[in-house]
Amino acid sequence: MSWSELLDYDRENIWHPYTSLTEPLPVYPVDSARGVRIKLANGRELVDGMSSWWAAIHGYNHPVMNRAVKRQLDKTSHVMFGGLTHKPAVNLAMKLEKLLPKGLTKFFFSDSGSVSVEVALKMALQYWRSRSRPEKIRFMSLEKGYHGDTFGAMSVCDPVTGMHTLFSGFLPSSIFVPSPESSFGEKCLNRDLEKIDQALKTHGPETAAFILEPVVQGAGGMRIYSPDYLKRVRELCHEHEVLLVADEIATGFGRTGKMFACEYAEISPDVMCLGKALTGGYMSLAATVCTEDIARTICSGSPGVFMHGPTFMGNPLACSAALASLGLLLDMNWKDRVDSIEAQLKKELYPLKNFPGVRDVRVLGAIGVVETTRKVDVRAAQELFVEMGVWIRPFLNLIYIMPPYIIEPQDLSLLTRAMKEALHSINP
Ligand SMILES: *Cc1c(COP(=O)(O)O)cnc(C)c1O
Repeated sequence: MSWSELLDYDRENIWHPYTSLTEPLPVYPVDSARGVRIKLANGRELVDGMSSWWAAIHGYNHPVMNRAVKRQLDKTSHVMFGGLTHKPAVNLAMKLEKLLPKGLTKFFFSDSGSVSVEVALKMALQYWRSRSRPEKIRFMSLEKGYHGDTFGAMSVCDPVTGMHTLFSGFLPSSIFVPSPESSFGEKCLNRDLEKIDQALKTHGPETAAFILEPVVQGAGGMRIYSPDYLKRVRELCHEHEVLLVADEIATGFGRTGKMFACEYAEISPDVMCLGKALTGGYMSLAATVCTEDIARTICSGSPGVFMHGPTFMGNPLACSAALASLGLLLDMNWKDRVDSIEAQLKKELYPLKNFPGVRDVRVLGAIGVVETTRKVDVRAAQELFVEMGVWIRPFLNLIYIMPPYIIEPQDLSLLTRAMKEALHSINP
């Protein structure tokens, strides 16, 4: 079948993320991808600015990753995790434990970020039930946060961008604290502190856990905030007997310039969610990691087990990809790579602050964000970017990139030039 027939079918029958099936935006057919380049069916090559949503940190079609997955494929692609185990899962947990903030030693492997958030919420609920505090059944989170698209995860996403009204009546009601105003590099402002303190004073007794994205709020607005704020949240959660869940699904594995963004605040959460770059973008895998205390408490209560178990739990292929990805990351001087991407992003994007129509420019690690005053025309932007040979996908009023760590300076410049061009031609 020709691509035009396939695209017709796609347009008519296949949902893409957050799209209409009656008035779909164009989608571009991909032939293959290698390194930082995505090759379209018509032969055009695009320099990838998105890492396929934070995930493909080593780029595409990496020989080391390919070899690891192929080797595992010839052994076993999958076995159930109920009553069975395998080396890829055990080795992955052991390797992660060495990298994670102190105290996070108990692993639950699932298939996607949203599910790992569901698992974290469930852990918090079972924990308090086991401690005979069944009234602690609500969750607290930050405005402009994003934690996934399943119902539990959605209930702790920003109520506006998360479209809570659409699902009201079904969605549990969470408690929202305004997104911190304290910016990166600055101490936590008193007014931010008062807001968390107030929320915890009022709702602490009924709250099981506070869930947030450490330092960088991703899909809910690409905001970067003060690590000192995170530190204070950690202290206040202790004080008010509320668990702290750090959602590092976007920030984990070096993206912000630290292996985990929690390190900026030198804190350990009670539970951490991992996903996205965990497998270097090769396949879907997520992990929810908790402390010994949480695991023991859950298992000491009724029914004595943690009540979750996905079919594809701990998939060996995905665990092998994750092991290979971690190996690559640790071997590549990732910190130098990310620091030099950060320096270049600052040099090339900060001047855009003075452009008309630009509200703010933010850079941290291998993340570069241009916030415009008005909503970006995604269709026009996408066309322009493809025309310029780059893959960047804006949302709302954000044009942002988080490229693979292996990107070369000239390719990164191509991305920042395209962002600048977009400001000129589609957002005047
Ligand atoms: C992407 C993301 C999720 C959801 O992960 P999925 O794999 O899309 O289900 C949750 N939290 C954060 C911070 C994310 O960036």
